[in-house]
Amino acid sequence: MINLELSEAHEGAEKFLHDVALKLFRPISRKYDKQEHDVPVELAPLDRRPAAAAALAKAKAAGEVGAGAKPEKKERKKPETVQNGNNMGSVISVMQMCWGDVGLMLSVPGGGLGNAAIAAVATPEQKERFGLVYASMAITEPASGSDSASIGTTADLDGDEWVLNGEKIFVTAGGRCDTVVVWATVDKTKGKAAIKSFVIPKGTPGMEVVKLEHKLGIRASDTATILLTNCRIPKDNILGSSEVAEGDKRAAFGKVMQTFDNTRPAVAAMAIGCSRASLDLTEELLGKAGIVIDFDKPRWEMSAIEAELVRMEADWEAARLLVLRAAWLADNGEPNSLEASMCKAKAGRVGNQITLRCVELCGSIGYSENELLEKWARDSKILDIFEGTQQIQQLIVARRILELSSAQLK
Ligand SMILES: Cc1cc2nc3c(=O)[nH]c(=O)nc-3n(C[C@H](O)[C@H](O)[C@H](O)COP(=O)(O)OP(=O)(O)OC[C@H]3O[C@@H](n4cnc5c(N)ncnc54)[C@H](O)[C@@H]3O)c2cc1C
Repeated sequence: MINLELSEAHEGAEKFLHDVALKLFRPISRKYDKQEHDVPVELAPLDRRPAAAAALAKAKAAGEVGAGAKPEKKERKKPETVQNGNNMGSVISVMQMCWGDVGLMLSVPGGGLGNAAIAAVATPEQKERFGLVYASMAITEPASGSDSASIGTTADLDGDEWVLNGEKIFVTAGGRCDTVVVWATVDKTKGKAAIKSFVIPKGTPGMEVVKLEHKLGIRASDTATILLTNCRIPKDNILGSSEVAEGDKRAAFGKVMQTFDNTRPAVAAMAIGCSRASLDLTEELLGKAGIVIDFDKPRWEMSAIEAELVRMEADWEAARLLVLRAAWLADNGEPNSLEASMCKAKAGRVGNQITLRCVELCGSIGYSENELLEKWARDSKILDIFEGTQQIQQLIVARRILELSSAQLK
């Protein structure tokens, strides 16, 4: 049975990150919304790379990685008792930080989407090499968005090196990261099964950041276009196997898609944090105007505005519970692809609706730049677009429930 009780460590992290959101993020939120491409230097103390280096040193000392390490377990084993682990820790941390600022959370050095891919698929040797970097994730291309199976960037093996060519757009943290995880095809004739991910350190000849986007929201976060022109990387910078499965191509593609099982609940958690911020401020502002929600009051005795706030709170809670369920399943070794898409669809949509409705409810105060409500409405829009749009999540949920393939249900 799902366990929603958090461990002491998780509760501690939640409180600490709430403080970070309140005292570090909020005071600089408007500044980096205006100074779009400036690096938020105030975030340097949160850099995750030193902590990752310390964890690696500890694991090495314990003989868990490096020469003489115990053999890697092939299968993810189901824990004997139900528990909340790293996935739960990650979503509650993200919720708290995004209560502060989504764009700034995405700009914390060392915590890019590419790091999630490395953590999910890298071999122990690769984790040692790439675990200490700040990695972005480059999937989208000018002619390949929602349909990631149509990726055109190529990776050709030449001796001991892969040679990559293509253009990647809308890469979050693509300008500031030190490594990019790139999706490319090793054989265009073999479709989905030939799509693999590759780790390319910045500074590799042939890789160039050519543009930074100006955006509606999350303006503290940089979004880059990256060109790959005969970009050569070592053969063992591929994540996972280079073999192209001849049989079940869907299963082979599923391996790279597995990253989304971790990242979609995280993006849903961003929507939960951002919309919580909007609800909290709206309730505070309305409270000052004498409108206080009494959840015990019968619905028919509520004013229209009270009833609206209760409806939004209920939607928010439903979305939050779906996120926790997806994280909990992952922590307990259970498949969670369906739940990851469900929570992303619900939280993305509800996040958009709540943040915009809060602007409306607060009228001119909500619309002005004196408060952050208008900014949160702008920031939340992307959370229903990247890591798979609302429509794509609904499509995935429908396919899984109806047991139809992507060819059968488009
Ligand atoms: C700020 C920002 C940051 C981003 N960060 C990253 C990143 O770090 N890495 C990365 O790789 N990408 C990133 N992206 C890209 C993002 O993931 C894509 O924008 C997203 O996947 C949608 O692709 P698209 O923009 O090409 O839209 P399209 O795929 O062209 O879709 C356009 C519209 O059509 C709908 N649609 C498409 N197919 C279907 C269908 N079969 N049924 C019903 N409706 C459909 C979509 O839902 C959408 O509403 C980012 C984008 C932005 C704006």
